[in-house]
Amino acid sequence: MTAWVTGIVAAGVTLALLTGVTRGFDTASLPILAGIVALGALAIAVARRAGTGTVGPGRCDGCGGLISPNAPVCKHCGAATAP
Ligand SMILES: [Zn+2]
Repeated sequence: MTAWVTGIVAAGVTLALLTGVTRGFDTASLPILAGIVALGALAIAVARRAGTGTVGPGRCDGCGGLISPNAPVCKHCGAATAP
């Protein structure tokens, strides 16, 4: 899931480094590099959060019934589901 994000960040960092090496690290390239790294870290954090939110149907600990992961209580027995 985060493979594409890692690829984009790696490509961006590589591009920024290549640009910095060929042109010399100036006041313009460093903020760009920092921005790419920050954007990548943010994207990875968002992707991880989205990954944990998209869980498939779970099973109730009380009755074993199939329940929605977003449901606060089991629709079969009313037991509170784990977050
Ligand atoms: Zn239940």
